[in-house]
Amino acid sequence: MRLPSETGRCSDKLMPTLLQLYHRLPPALRSVPASLRGYYLRTWRYTKTTDRLAREFLARDSWDVHAWKRYQDERLSFVLTRAATQVPYYRTLWQERRRRGDNASFHELANWPILEKEEIRNAPHAFVADDCDPKRMFHEHTSGTTGKSLDLWWSKDTVRTWYAMFEARSRLWYGVSRHDRWAILGGQLVTPAADRKPLFWVWNAGLKQFYMSSYHLAPDLIPHYLDALIAHRVTYLFGYTSSLYALAQEVLKLRRRDVRMRVAIANAEPVFDYQRAEIEEAFQCPLRETYGMAELAAAAGECAEGEMHIWPDVGVVELVENGIAVEDGQAGDLVCTGLLNADMPLIRYRVGDRATARPHVERCRCGRGMPMLASIDGRSDDVLYTKDGRAIGRLDPVFKQHLPVLEAQIIQESLDHVRILYVPADNYSDEAGRSMVTRLQERLGPVNVTLERRDELPRTANGKFRAVISLVKRPSTRSSTGRGT
Ligand SMILES: [Zn+2]
Repeated sequence: MRLPSETGRCSDKLMPTLLQLYHRLPPALRSVPASLRGYYLRTWRYTKTTDRLAREFLARDSWDVHAWKRYQDERLSFVLTRAATQVPYYRTLWQERRRRGDNASFHELANWPILEKEEIRNAPHAFVADDCDPKRMFHEHTSGTTGKSLDLWWSKDTVRTWYAMFEARSRLWYGVSRHDRWAILGGQLVTPAADRKPLFWVWNAGLKQFYMSSYHLAPDLIPHYLDALIAHRVTYLFGYTSSLYALAQEVLKLRRRDVRMRVAIANAEPVFDYQRAEIEEAFQCPLRETYGMAELAAAAGECAEGEMHIWPDVGVVELVENGIAVEDGQAGDLVCTGLLNADMPLIRYRVGDRATARPHVERCRCGRGMPMLASIDGRSDDVLYTKDGRAIGRLDPVFKQHLPVLEAQIIQESLDHVRILYVPADNYSDEAGRSMVTRLQERLGPVNVTLERRDELPRTANGKFRAVISLVKRPSTRSSTGRGT
């Protein structure tokens, strides 16, 4: 989950200078500015009402699908009306439609065009409602995986609602709270990337957060991380799936049983089965997958039954392929309408990730009536295509459990050439390489697969790992406006 201001946040405009100053401090002193920043964020996020709000959100767990539908309809009606009448970008859009004689109602979500990221990037202020002053709002500047950033603004109320919701569903659901000592593995450069000497982390007293760098997870450095987790009495982990997995592999290799956690909460990257198994074994705790974004258009989290529940009060989620809603069991682009941030409303926003639809059930085995997704499948841009035009989303079966590679990246160069870059583990064998090639060909058909050995694999600007990179242009069959328009 690209959690706002947690794992992904990288750069305010001032950040390069501040970051350089911070990096010049002796590592042990860095926790002073980190904690000050933490106290500042805490005053934005949490108040005396946080716990009451969190309890209210937990009470919604017992709502059935009909109660959720009523809630969403009511809130959606408010957000759509506000967007169409008080938000410059959308007001202009509807005025132009009226001028063209289009009388479609803005009260119907299906009548709204799909919003692409580029539109927000081009004119972010045009998405802020007339009665809001961005200078008095919380500013999020996200750095996307491919370096394309977005400016977003949240009112104080939105910040507090979101963090109370996050407390309820990303911590209390899992038996932990913000008052417990926790570690986060994310994209902040807490120490210069080239450093090879600890400390690769910083203690943020304001958020009780042990921030660990996701840029220094080399096998020989990981034992330092593990010792630090114990020394700082960390009780749960939160972070990029690939970072949790890197730690877990070393725990298992070193046969350490002392790094025990209450839960490991994965975000920002999909969780593959082989990663889940090793992370759970290493930290002797459940792994829970979460999904979200600074745009606040949707959020989801895994329950104890392993189901991925959408948080319906954050957004209305559609799965769209070629302009139409997908069937159960099919994958599509996440197109989401934010219900939380009505001060910068994003309607039918193509988030840039894909997910697979799950057959509807009235109530999950965990007791919740929140709708579910079969899986979150990663970035839309990084889907591989077969020669006959099929999109292949999840490729985790290619890397079966206990495969002797530390990490691997699949790059599709063309429809008939795919490269697998891999970092071998000590017990790597040619047979393991052949198994990856065969499994990939089983899914993509007769393509040339080349295996390329590496000492390490690159991270993106915000420290994320891309398991799949597609350099093949997506067939452009989908309509840009979606259904109903
Ligand atoms: Zn459930």
